[in-house]
This record gives sequence, C-alpha cells and structure tokens, in this order.
Amino acid sequence: MNLLIVDDDVVDRELVRRALKKSNISSIITEVESVGEALEKLDTQRFDAVLLDYNLPQRKGIELLLELKGDVNKQSIAVIMMSASSEDELALSCINAGAQDFLVKTEINAFRLQRAIVNAQARSDLEKRLLQSYQHTKQLAEHDSLTGLVNRYYFDEALNKEILSNQREKTVFALLLLDLDHFKYVNDNYGHDVGDQLLIEVVNRISNCLRGHEMFARLGGDEFAITLTHLKSINGASIVTQRIINALNEPFEIDNYSIQSSVSIGISVCPFDSKEAKELFKFADIAMYRAKNMGRNQFSFFEEEMQEQFLADFLIENKLKTAITNNDFYLHYQPVIDSEDETLTGVEALIRWNNDNENMRPDKFIPIAEKSRLIIDIGKWVIKQAIQQLSLWNADRQLPITMAINLSSVQLTDENLIEYIDESLTKYNVSASLIEFELTETALIVEPENTVKIIKGISDLGCLVSLDDFGTGFSSLSHLHSFPIDIVKIDRSLMPNASSKERVKKILNGLVLMIKSLDLEIVAEGVETKNDFNLCLKLGVGKIQGFYFDKPLSVRELEKKYF
Ligand code: C2E
Ligand code: CA
Ligand code: CA
Repeated sequence: MNLLIVDDDVVDRELVRRALKKSNISSIITEVESVGEALEKLDTQRFDAVLLDYNLPQRKGIELLLELKGDVNKQSIAVIMMSASSEDELALSCINAGAQDFLVKTEINAFRLQRAIVNAQARSDLEKRLLQSYQHTKQLAEHDSLTGLVNRYYFDEALNKEILSNQREKTVFALLLLDLDHFKYVNDNYGHDVGDQLLIEVVNRISNCLRGHEMFARLGGDEFAITLTHLKSINGASIVTQRIINALNEPFEIDNYSIQSSVSIGISVCPFDSKEAKELFKFADIAMYRAKNMGRNQFSFFEEEMQEQFLADFLIENKLKTAITNNDFYLHYQPVIDSEDETLTGVEALIRWNNDNENMRPDKFIPIAEKSRLIIDIGKWVIKQAIQQLSLWNADRQLPITMAINLSSVQLTDENLIEYIDESLTKYNVSASLIEFELTETALIVEPENTVKIIKGISDLGCLVSLDDFGTGFSSLSHLHSFPIDIVKIDRSLMPNASSKERVKKILNGLVLMIKSLDLEIVAEGVETKNDFNLCLKLGVGKIQGFYFDKPLSVRELEKKYF
C-alpha cells in the first residue's frame, strides 16, 4: 500500500512510521512536510491513503484535503486527518470536508492506525461507487437513451437558467421546437428499427449545424427542442434554423432504403415574445404548427412581424440570386471634385438594382446580400463593371480619373478577391493606382487577421484603400495607423447643417486636422450646400463629393456633363 505522511513534525512522523511498521499493513511510505510538497508528490505518484496533519505551517492540512476532494482524479484517495487536539468539532469539520477518518495524535498506535487506514479505504471505495451510481442514475434520468441528447426533464430545468443568463447579458435567446415531418409514415412503412436509426441520423446532422454550446434536447418521439443563446439579433436564429432545414434535404441511407425526411420548426424569442419558459414553449409550439400548416419543411416565428420581416428578406434574397444573370444591376457614378479648381478627379461607383421595375436602395438590399454572402458575386460584378467603365472613360482623357469601389466586410473573407481584382485590371488595361477600394471601420474589425491580409494584398497590387463613413463609428486613430490606408472619407453626417451648432464644426475641424497630421488624403461626403463647400475649402479638404455638385449619375448623364 502506498502511503503519504504529511506532517512538519519529525517526531510525529516517526511515531506514525513506527506504528505502521508494527501493524499488519505492508506499506511504502513517503514523507513530506508541507501542503505544497504533498501536492507535488500527489501529482506524480499514486497513493492509496494520505495521513494528514491538521496543523501545518503556511497552508493548513484542511486546505490540502479540500483540494484533493475537489479534483476528480484525486477524489478517491483516502484521507486520514491527524491532530494533537481532540476537540470533537475539529474532527467533525474534517469529516465534513471529506476526510474518511480523524485520529488524535496522542492516541495513535499500531492497532488504531491500521483500523483507520483499512476503514478509510473501504469508505473511500464506497463513496466512489456511490458517486458512479449517482452519475449513472443522473445520466439515465436526464438523457434520452436512443440519441444521447438531454431529455425533457433536464431541458425544463435548464431552460430557466438559460433565460436568466441571457437577460443578465441583455442578449436575445430563441427557443426552437422541431417536429419531424411524416415520421409516423417511416415507422409504419419501414419498421421501428429504421425509425430509430433515422432519429439518430437526424440528430447527427442537426448537431453539425450547431456550434456546441446550444442546448439540444429530445422531448419525446420525433419532437426536439434547441435553445440558441446569446444572439445579437433575431436574424442569427433564422440563419441557424435555415441551416438545420437544409441539412435534412439530402435523403438518409438506412438499411438499403433511401428515406427523405424534413422538419418543421417553430421559434419563439426571449425577451420579445415572453420571458417565461412556459410561455416561450407555448408560443414556439403555435409557431411550429403554423410551419406545418404552411406546408412543412420550413420554419416560422411566433411573432407575425418577425415572420413577415424574414419572408420579405427571404424574397429579396431569392431575387438577388438571379439578378446578376438577369442583368438587373447597373452602376451609377458620383463625381468626386477637386475643391481648388472644381474639376472632376474621379467617381464613386454605386450599385443600383432594377427589381421588377422598382429601384430598391442599396442600403436595403446590400445587408441582405451580405447575410447570404451573395455580396461576394455581386461585389465582383461591380468591380469588373467599374473597371471596364473606367478604362472606356480614360481612353478619351488626357488626365485619367479615379474609380472608387465599395467593398463589404464579407468580401474581405473571399480568398479569390485579390486575384480577381488583378485579373480585371489586366483585362481592361487599367492602372491599379487609379482604383480606390472603400472600406468602413466596422469592416476592419470584423475579422482582423484575414482583413489585414486582404487589405495588404489590395495595397500591394498598387490600388488605394480608403476608409469610408469616417466619423460615424470608432473614428479611431489606431485604425488609420494599423492598416495601409491612403484616403479618409468624412461621413455626410459631419457636414454641419443650418441648425447645427459650433460644436459640430469643431468636431469636423478636429477630424480634418487629425487626418491631415497623418498625411492622408481627405474626401468630404454629403456636401450639399455652398456653405458646406466653403467650410471644406476653409479647412483644407482636398476633394468633395455631394449633391452640391452632383448626385450619383448614369454613364450618359456623367458623360454629358464632364466629357
Ligand atoms: P456610401 O458608400 O457612403 O455612398 C454614399 C451614399 O451617399 C450614396 O447612397 C449617395 O447617393 C449618397 N449621397 C451622396 N451625396 C450625398 C449628399 O450630398 N447628401 C446625401 N444625403 N446623400 C448623398 P447610395 O447610392 O444609396 O448608397 C448607399 C450605400 O450603399 C453606400 O454608402 C454604400 O455603403 C452601399 N453601396 C452602394 N453601392 C455599393 C456597392 O457596389 N457595394 C457595396 N458593398 N456597397 C455599396
Ligand atoms: Ca462609399
Ligand atoms: Ca460613405
């Protein structure tokens, strides 16, 4: 038997050693003097029991005891506390803290020690078995044996805690109720074994759609529940839910059968729909039945408005998918004017969409294109179109003009972007130095690592990088420093209007000074009046863009005015 004696008193250690020698226990004994040394030994060697002095210098014996009992790997080592004092209370506190026995040092002899060690070991084994059996029972009580998911009992208990934690952090929380479509048909026609297999496979595919910290439960039969926690917006819920629905689209191959399955999902959202578990369940259930009624294989929010919003976005997304091939996009170009001589120095390409003869603002459809990542292809179309147009214009000009192209943060995750830009420049024989890519500060912080790489790539091609909408977000000097930025575009909200106070002008003045101190070029946006223009001139802003000179113009309008 491997024993560890932890005692700072040599005489006491000798006493225990002798008593052990006289007993019938054959043991290998290790001695240490402090809690620290004991922990080191316990980390590297395996012991059956620890004889632990209560009264140690620095850290007390009871601290070691607590540490052992809190460590799953060391919990089962039997601990016998020893103390010079015989107070009952002391003994009790040690037993409460998890010691298997307590010995008063003056009473230690071979017989007592042997009995204590044997008993302590037996007790420790028993505790271990009890713990295992408790864990097994808990697993049975809280988990579904077929799929291994947590069951309704556990889910109900945990749901309230999740709701509270989300409320504390003021984040959105969605409850999804899922019901497989026509599962009964599978059971009736292929048998229960196949039905069981299908459930397992369905759970696997759904699990792959989750990040791992969601709660995923089998409520019974073919009914499941999922909590999506700490969402920044409701949109996050629809993205995951759509992913789940898509994941079940492919047929399942079970026992040589190819089985098509799908799921209907109802969603309720906390805190908007309710802050109570019971109500959230009820609402998600109502939403789930709505999804079934609408034809299954889809999801529905409880709140009509959320549903309408989702459907409207979904419709736009679907139309965006075919807009490029249908030639529905075109570009307008807003002139950028030199503030000194009021000549044209360049243009900014702004996308327009003819959606069923109705022009939808980019502010509305760009976010949807970003969410669905359609912006990657749309953005490429813009790049090619704008570069081609610039090449046509500059062919007829002595002084070439520049082309500014907006880039979404999503495009900064596209590995092919740089290559695509390079190819387009070559194809239309346009110098990289005439192209400016506009990025917002938010884009810079979304995925810093990749972003830096791609922005550097753009810069290395010889294109310029401009920071768009400056003054609306962080307006951070560090962003101007840590990215290869050439131009800063001051947002139109910083143009002082008739009613704005001196303060706004001071902010504008400060920003301009700050940008100039970094030797960056400045473009003021949203210059609408003569007043705005004069102010920019006074502050030394080099370039101007805004309705005072021009709105975004079609190719023909622009040519008519400037060529
Ligand atoms: P932005 O990049 O800040 O573009 C300037 C917006 O301000 C344009 O709106 C323009 O029409 C408007 N504007 C220009 N001068 C004035 C002015 O003097 N007063 C006022 N009130 N507004 C002015 P637009 O064309 O509706 O575009 C809105 C936003 O959509 C753009 O903001 C940009 O963020 C995005 N966008 C447009 N085209 C593209 C594109 O091809 N790709 C990407 N990723 N985003 C684009
Ligand atoms: Ca822009
Ligand atoms: Ca802008």
